[in-house]
Amino acid sequence: MLPSEDGGRASGSRRARQSSVAACGNCAARSYIAKLTALAFLSPHGLMTPLDDARQIHTALQDIRRDLHAHPELAFSETRTADAVSARLDAWGIETCRGLGRTGVVGALRAGGSERAIGLRADMDALPITETNRFTHRSLHEGRMHACGHDGHTAMLLGAARLLARERDFDGTVYLVFQPGEEGAGGARAMIEDGLFKRFPMDAIYGMHNWPGLPAGHFAVHAGPVMAGTDRFDIHIEGVGGHAAMPHLSADPVLAGAALVQAAQSIVSRSLDPLDAAVVSLTCFHAGDTFNVLPERAELSGTLRGFSAAVREKAFERLRSLCAGIGETFGVQITFDLLPGGYPPTINTAAEAAHCAEAASAIAGRENVHTSERPSMGAEDFAFYLSHKPGAYIWIGNGLTAIAEHALAGCERRGSVALHNAAYDFNDCILPIGAAYWVELVRRLLPRRGEAQYP
Ligand SMILES: [Zn+2]
Ligand SMILES: [Zn+2]
Repeated sequence: MLPSEDGGRASGSRRARQSSVAACGNCAARSYIAKLTALAFLSPHGLMTPLDDARQIHTALQDIRRDLHAHPELAFSETRTADAVSARLDAWGIETCRGLGRTGVVGALRAGGSERAIGLRADMDALPITETNRFTHRSLHEGRMHACGHDGHTAMLLGAARLLARERDFDGTVYLVFQPGEEGAGGARAMIEDGLFKRFPMDAIYGMHNWPGLPAGHFAVHAGPVMAGTDRFDIHIEGVGGHAAMPHLSADPVLAGAALVQAAQSIVSRSLDPLDAAVVSLTCFHAGDTFNVLPERAELSGTLRGFSAAVREKAFERLRSLCAGIGETFGVQITFDLLPGGYPPTINTAAEAAHCAEAASAIAGRENVHTSERPSMGAEDFAFYLSHKPGAYIWIGNGLTAIAEHALAGCERRGSVALHNAAYDFNDCILPIGAAYWVELVRRLLPRRGEAQYP
């Protein structure tokens, strides 16, 4: 989206209300968005709201999103994506810094004279999945796909950048953090290690992820834990191979591994406090090549997730102990390795979560902002930011009935699709809602003199 692509609007958001439907450009989703947002989202004073402004650039945001979707890039390879982000920030007069966390981009947008500063983060990376969708904006690269909606996150933050750069109706600094490598690669940690918070000092940082299963036009905000901490472990079992007909002459790593898989499920059910949430999943078990040979070794891998360091440590202690005991019982050597690169739990700070809930309510209506949703056992590297700064990471509904929503958006029908599924697609209908949320949050957190929204 270039400056001339925003519908040719004159600057100034505090103007008389215009036709909300006509403002949506030529996207077929506009009638749906109009229904979703209705009059309840408009300012009671009859002025243009952030959502009205965001609707004006809906078509341009959809074009950006679909272009990114067609050109997915994996962790720390997001060069084309970073080029696309930087080019737009430059065109809108936003100071940019490239290369933070290798392929990250930070835009600095200033207005007024306040020292206050906040960070807004979008992730840019794709997943190593081959897309099964057949629509025209499907991935052009086999084995790479935007199956987590980071294309949409990038487009929504660009939309907010466009509107904020045009209006500059806030007082302070907004850092637009376009992060690489969220999908298991720890891009947030890489940006912090490259000096994100030293070079761009900010009071708090905010994130947002689309959430299939939550209706489009809704948000979920957690005042505490929102995503679990995760660790990966590998287990190596060394036995004695031999003839399947003479097991007494071998030490069978398959039997020991099977016992270990079963015993590991006693950790959550019998070793942890039932009120502490955790999950242990053994997801890989490789051993043997043929039916009549007991193999020498077996390789297992898995993940352990929970919301507190104490729970995760206790679970690992039990897993190590089970490995030692089962090794002894079955006469095999079992080695347990906890791999580096785990993510801590994502725990929002209460005050910042409250600000997010207020901003989301202003956009979507209070009844559509859920503050008692259960957290997810999924993990998110936004947790690294929250271990340095206050902040909050919220969910924006990607849709409950993706069939209807995507049909309205002009796409083929393909059903409701979960994150990381090969048939997933970000819901273009929510692009203006997400962009408007960011703008509303900035205006509330960095109000101009006399416009303070928070006491
Ligand atoms: Zn993901
Ligand atoms: Zn994601």
